[in-house]
Amino acid sequence: MQFFKCDVCKSEIKELNPGRTIFHIREFEICDHCHDDLNDAVRQTVRNKRPFDFTWYERLTVDLIQDGMKKNKIAVPSRK
Ligand SMILES: [Zn+2]
Repeated sequence: MQFFKCDVCKSEIKELNPGRTIFHIREFEICDHCHDDLNDAVRQTVRNKRPFDFTWYERLTVDLIQDGMKKNKIAVPSRK
């Protein structure tokens, strides 16, 4: 059986474990929990950034993941 390790929170995930999903974003593997946080963080940032541009969107996603890898969690900006 194959195991995945979340690149952000470092928890191990069995690929076929129901209810646990692993997301592949570029070269990263991210668990569903961290993926939710990532989506939140991207959403918070996107609100303040216009016009929408896919280049910075992708850059932002990678930055958030790399930052999350250092802190073992995705930093979600606080809602104002
Ligand atoms: Zn995770």
